[in-house]
Amino acid sequence: MIKYNLRCENDHEFESWFRSSSDYDDQVANNHVTCPYCNSVSIDKALMAPNVSTSKSKEKPVETVHNQKLDQDVRKTLQKVRDYIVQNSEYVGDRFAEEARQIHNDESEKSIYGEATPQEVSDLVEDGVDVLPLPRDMKKDN
Ligand SMILES: [Zn+2]
Repeated sequence: MIKYNLRCENDHEFESWFRSSSDYDDQVANNHVTCPYCNSVSIDKALMAPNVSTSKSKEKPVETVHNQKLDQDVRKTLQKVRDYIVQNSEYVGDRFAEEARQIHNDESEKSIYGEATPQEVSDLVEDGVDVLPLPRDMKKDN
């Protein structure tokens, strides 16, 4: 048995039980379901408020790759990318979001790296500030 919240053309809401969703379809199609308040046979399922949280607490997933056999060349290349960025950028630590925004506003060529929370990164991207994740320092893995 399925219970549906129904609504007639006059916005009366009521509940009714059906054997199945197709039973509901048949009964409504054959005008066997009537509004208990006005006897209307123009019945539809009432829209239920979806139980969805609108909070922004869900962080966007981060694209991640895991492969035990990940080619050593790829790791070396990522390490080179990291080394290059680190050598050619100023480390700003946790002031990254603030500094990145400043550089963006000044249209400066300055290059920085540092730490930012996923929320800060998300805000920067939304504001059109071009930021990229820095490859992990893989020398520490060995
Ligand atoms: Zn009604």
